[in-house]
Amino acid sequence: MALQAETQAIVTQFDFSDENVNKAVREFLRQMDEGLEKDGTSLSQIPTYVTAVPNGTEQGLYMAVDLGGTNFRVCSIKLNGDGTFNLTANKVPIPKELMVAKTASELFAFLALQIRNFLEEHHGDQFEQHVRRRPTMTAPEGYKDEHVFRMGFTFSFPVQQSGINKGTLIRWTKGFDIPDAVGKDVCALLQEEIDKLHLPVKVAALVNDTVGTLMARSYSSPGKQGAVLGAIFGTGTNGAYVEKLSKLKKPLSGDYDNSTGEMVINTEWGSFDNQLNVLPTTPWDIALDKQTPNPGLQMYEKRISGMFLGEILRLATLDLIKNPKVSFFKDENSASNDWRTTTYIDKSSSLYQEWGLDTSIMSVAAIDESPTLSALRQLLESTLQVHMPAYEDALAFKKIAAAIGRRAARLSAVAIAAIVLQTGKLSDPAHDNEPIDIGVDGSLVEHYPYFTDMIYEALRAVDGIGEQGAKRIRIGIASDGSGVGAALIALVAAGMEKSTDNLLGDLRSGAANASDTAASSDSEEKPTAN
Ligand code: ADP
Ligand code: MG
Repeated sequence: MALQAETQAIVTQFDFSDENVNKAVREFLRQMDEGLEKDGTSLSQIPTYVTAVPNGTEQGLYMAVDLGGTNFRVCSIKLNGDGTFNLTANKVPIPKELMVAKTASELFAFLALQIRNFLEEHHGDQFEQHVRRRPTMTAPEGYKDEHVFRMGFTFSFPVQQSGINKGTLIRWTKGFDIPDAVGKDVCALLQEEIDKLHLPVKVAALVNDTVGTLMARSYSSPGKQGAVLGAIFGTGTNGAYVEKLSKLKKPLSGDYDNSTGEMVINTEWGSFDNQLNVLPTTPWDIALDKQTPNPGLQMYEKRISGMFLGEILRLATLDLIKNPKVSFFKDENSASNDWRTTTYIDKSSSLYQEWGLDTSIMSVAAIDESPTLSALRQLLESTLQVHMPAYEDALAFKKIAAAIGRRAARLSAVAIAAIVLQTGKLSDPAHDNEPIDIGVDGSLVEHYPYFTDMIYEALRAVDGIGEQGAKRIRIGIASDGSGVGAALIALVAAGMEKSTDNLLGDLRSGAANASDTAASSDSEEKPTAN
């Protein structure tokens, strides 16, 4: 029974009590306010210049592109105005050599080319029309600025945004390295290449994936009220929420529409409490942080998101393997194994390699409720090269994984609770009994079992929320956030432009033309989410 006791000793270190949740919520609120007042704080609280969220009645045809880590996604989205949409998308891998190109132009020219290919393939009619009409125009450039398509650009790298379609690249991450682009406006870089190809496309909005999630959820969630928060729990974690302009004390450099009195704020909450005032810290959190290229930073994210949970589990598991009091993942004698054989770990096991354990195994560990844990044991064998793991071993692994997953969910609840409290909607009689809508996206929240249930459990324990408040909070998956959200922000941006009348005419005829566009075999066609 030593294994049970030693496992429990690890599990309890991942406890995060109701009292600690409350303390962390208070600290989150404090750090949020600090970030609204000045730059250089833990929560960056970046203004996005988006001042309204959609209500589902929006209509039109928009384009969206998404430059993530590995792929470039081009889509067109037809918003039907009733909370539904039709999405057509192409996905192309980014050639490795372009990730480290000499000039920004090489990468962005490739992106523009993909946009042209997409238009030719899926919007051939409009594209041909545009090309035919263009030379007859008498503009000095030899063609008319006829931007049939407004496009939202989801760019998942750190940018300093200074307007709805303006933002300079701070630094590359995720294996990209094109020094020429750093400090430049990424929207302008893309527009330049689009214009070289004379495409009828205007880069209308620069989009962060959290803001896209917020917009997508607002559009498709039932009811008239928009969502208050869009949150990502995937490789990383972050959230964007709707804040009152009066609370935003930092100076704003760009133009924005102040008629709504609100602005969407990108919190960059991955770096909440880097100073560790309230975050729980185990020996394995410390070991993991040391292994990363950015020790001391993104401390909240390192306890929550998919990129890190598996590594915490690996480090805790290794400690149990080395513990002389137990025989974990090894048997002295076949009699101690219910499969009547002996367990051993291959020397080349990925358990011995940094980042060798993918977080998705935690989902399998949580789902497997069978009396012999056969699915989990098979996976331990096939992915971690643990041969013939005994039932007791698999159970210990399952318990540690569950403790790490549960702590992550309770920590996630801290940000959600703080933002719900910050909106003041729970205590405002004007919003009596209305649901408070939250859009979420990312593999962790989508696939890890009971992740949302564990978030709700923690929310109920928060002072100022409680049973009643938690019932009003409605957390829902925002499907296709990066495409639909970017399209919606392009729509908001179009509304901010001066000559909107002409533009809306263009968009409406565009939408009518596109309604019968069919997807070809190499594209994803996603009719109508929700
Ligand atoms: P991205 O963040 O790049 O948009 P995802 O939302 O798919 O992508 O998140 C990927 C992360 O989620 C990876 O760290 C991966 O380990 C983790 N992950 C993938 N599948 C699961 C799963 N079933 N359960 C828990 N985590 C998962
Ligand atoms: Mg994502």
